[in-house]
Amino acid sequence: LEAEMQRLDRLNLVGEMAASIGHEIRNPMTTVRGYLQLFQKRTEFANYKDQLSTMIEELDRANTIISEFLSLAKNKAIVRQRGSLNAIIDTMFPLIQADALRLGHNVIVEKGDTPDNEFDPSEVRQLLLNLLRNAMEAMAPNGHVRIKTYCSSDAIFLEVQDNGPGIPDEILNQLGKPFVTTKENGTGLGLPVCYRIAERHNAELGIRSSTQGTTVFVKFKR
Ligand code: ADP
Ligand code: MG
Repeated sequence: LEAEMQRLDRLNLVGEMAASIGHEIRNPMTTVRGYLQLFQKRTEFANYKDQLSTMIEELDRANTIISEFLSLAKNKAIVRQRGSLNAIIDTMFPLIQADALRLGHNVIVEKGDTPDNEFDPSEVRQLLLNLLRNAMEAMAPNGHVRIKTYCSSDAIFLEVQDNGPGIPDEILNQLGKPFVTTKENGTGLGLPVCYRIAERHNAELGIRSSTQGTTVFVKFKR
């Protein structure tokens, strides 16, 4: 028991260190990003437009890696509040729509008549965003992604369905493992974060995938 306690203490410490280092790295990155954006508007840098946008994109990518890693490492308590899953989706809709537009996909939202439940809204938002990003990154242009909510007598379901090519066979049995990715610029942290958020909600995350598409559902206990 003693050894186990020490191991957990160390894990916590590593998590906390990772979190504070992550924050410390982000602040200077924000400053650099600000200047790069400024340079984009200046005529004397007109010859470096492409390089400047690449620099900003790369900073954003580094920032995503830090956020995803932080949400895995952090041990902060879940902040549950009674609310509506559909309302959480509504607040995200403009962001979702913008992503879809940028990538040339269609989003369909099918909100069922689901009762209020206990959620951590910011975590549910992150969960949905990660699933949607995966869906949109998987599909060829003009794909269809469907966000669905529905309920049964004992659970509320959130489902994200795409008509992409399905999850590659070689990684099907290691979904949820950190750093497993088939994407050139992937972090392999999106799904692990989703599993973690589901777990923190006492919810179940399930994935069905075929060559016709992928469906990920999260089952929240009522
Ligand atoms: P990342 O998106 O950074 O690669 P994730 O953990 O979000 O990391 O996903 C891991 C891998 O699972 C992806 O690289 C991809 O191969 C596969 N995957 C996840 N979602 C889907 C999906 N909707 N369709 C096809 N493949 C998927
Ligand atoms: Mg992802």
